[in-house]
Amino acid sequence: MSSSVIDFIATEARFGARNYEPIGVVLSRGEGVWVWDTEGNRYLDCLSAYSAVSQGHCHPKILAAMVEQAHRLTLTSRAFHNDQLALFYEEIAALTGSHKVLPMNSGAEAVESAIKSVRKWGYEVKGVPDGQAEIIVCANNFHGRTLGVVGFSTDPETRGHFGPFAPGFKVIPFGDAAALAEAITPNTVAFLVEPIQGEAGVVIPPAGYFTEVRELCTANNVMLVLDEIQTGLGRTGKLLAEQHEGIEADVTLLGKALSGGFYPVSAVLSNNDVLGTLRPGQHGSTFGGNPLACAVARAAMRVLVEEGMIENAARQGARFLEGLKDIRANTIREVRGRGLMLAVELHPEAGLARRYCEALQGKGILAKDTHEHTIRIAPPLVITSDQVDWALERFAAILTQDFS
Ligand SMILES: *Cc1c(COP(=O)(O)O)cnc(C)c1O
Repeated sequence: MSSSVIDFIATEARFGARNYEPIGVVLSRGEGVWVWDTEGNRYLDCLSAYSAVSQGHCHPKILAAMVEQAHRLTLTSRAFHNDQLALFYEEIAALTGSHKVLPMNSGAEAVESAIKSVRKWGYEVKGVPDGQAEIIVCANNFHGRTLGVVGFSTDPETRGHFGPFAPGFKVIPFGDAAALAEAITPNTVAFLVEPIQGEAGVVIPPAGYFTEVRELCTANNVMLVLDEIQTGLGRTGKLLAEQHEGIEADVTLLGKALSGGFYPVSAVLSNNDVLGTLRPGQHGSTFGGNPLACAVARAAMRVLVEEGMIENAARQGARFLEGLKDIRANTIREVRGRGLMLAVELHPEAGLARRYCEALQGKGILAKDTHEHTIRIAPPLVITSDQVDWALERFAAILTQDFS
């Protein structure tokens, strides 16, 4: 390591809150699937900023839209209209088949906004007695880091010593429709769930689970809120992961790739009157729906479709998954994935996934461990077959070694 790399890392450690433990690489440039460190070493990005740069780093069309808009108008607040918001609404509604849109900034804010909206819907439309609304969530969920959201996390690291927390949440196992049926009461307003649990290690529910979930929610007048912040916008090989199950959520949350990694943009989408319960003054955000965010998001959605990234995610994801399954290594316990949302789970005795990620860095691949024994793989959706094969060679070389 050169002295400049050590300086960046040491300076971060000296001044920064230590809430992350990054891999020892300092990045300074990105293009498509590639990123470069300060010393000019090139890496294939197999994390894509947790799926936020699905369109590839510094996509030229999103960049052009951002620069053009930044020259014209960046922020008006919602006290006034701007000439980008209506276009953003129209385009995201057309793309996703939604009727109502609430623009926010971070993913966690979209989750918080959905919780507020479904509670309000519960009181004003469903007729739940005030203060009694219940929301059902799943064990090992990840919906962000705000106080409201970590309060119903089941991960001790995520929630430990951050309480007291808001009441009104009930936790059930993921992938278990019978548990949902049992948990629903007349006061249940919503079931909030990820189509595939990303941070938990790319956990895919049993086939048919969401069909049953959809039926239970409809039968009991419970809003199905799908957190597609990570799975949405092509990551799993379909625009929305719900399409794999042939269902439609009542409320869909998008974030991350909604801006192609340029800017925090999130949205709550609803197919019914949930967002219709919000009245002027009851919810808001200074930056939510600003013209710069809208221009960036419009371009990010456009390139996703125009450049065939969703189909490419399906095709390259299948190739990547097959290739990973073909690797004969004692270290591997299971390989799983859908589209370009993939994971390799290691045998506990194979050593920490972190060691393998550090070794992959030495081979020109940046991937991220999650929960000690899982390597998560989520390259930008613009990856080519040659690049997948290039990555697979390197994964094979590392996974056949023992880092225990
Ligand atoms: C990343 C993520 C969030 C939180 O998004 P932020 O922008 O980090 O607040 C919420 N839900 C899921 C499923 C996510 O992957």
